[in-house]
Amino acid sequence: MIDAYKGQRDRLVNILKNEGIRNEKVLNAINNVPRHLFVPHLKQFAYENKALPIGDGQTISQPYIVARMTELLLIEDDMKVLEIGTGSGYQTSILANLCKFVYTIEKLPSLYYSVRDLLKKLGYNNVLCKLGDGTIGWEEHSPYDGIIITAAAPSLPEPLKKQVKTGGVIVLPEGDRNSQKLVRYRKIDENTFEKEEFEECIFVPLKGKYGW
Ligand code: SAH
Repeated sequence: MIDAYKGQRDRLVNILKNEGIRNEKVLNAINNVPRHLFVPHLKQFAYENKALPIGDGQTISQPYIVARMTELLLIEDDMKVLEIGTGSGYQTSILANLCKFVYTIEKLPSLYYSVRDLLKKLGYNNVLCKLGDGTIGWEEHSPYDGIIITAAAPSLPEPLKKQVKTGGVIVLPEGDRNSQKLVRYRKIDENTFEKEEFEECIFVPLKGKYGW
């Protein structure tokens, strides 16, 4: 099948390289995933390095941020990852291209049902979607090798600390409602997390019991 968007994806990958994304696996995943299918109403802007509206006041993250957070997750192909904030499902499918299994939670029913169906249609059989409050995690499938939160959190939600493996990482935008920093927590042992801070970013708020 001819992929009319391949040229635009190559261009996006070059932009991300210029912005400092170095991980080849991540760049390949960006090159493989048809982002236009996740923003059918804004296809013409799908390969610009920009966040776009996806309805209900939510956004699909900027490709640079998706790539950067994936890189910070220290992705390996045998990893089991929990994602909080499925949104459009774009970050989910990038992860599904790179790791063994992705569990993803979305709070808004309007996004949950359509995105679950889209991911199924795209043939991902290593993704499981859940409707609910991701700040309490998904204990049933824990512990995870990595957890990624794709909405702005005031702090690291307490239940997630237990649901990540020792040695595993949690990547999230942390800060106030209007601006955050990308942060990575690495679990050293049951009670100790090492924190690293990266660039500034702006996400929609993480709602729920341990969110805003
Ligand atoms: N990774 C997504 C980004 C979506 S924006 C993408 O690439 O498209 C953040 C999403 O988090 C929104 O869809 C929002 O509804 C969802 N969200 C906010 N609080 C949540 C919570 N407590 N649990 C699960 N999802 C939540």
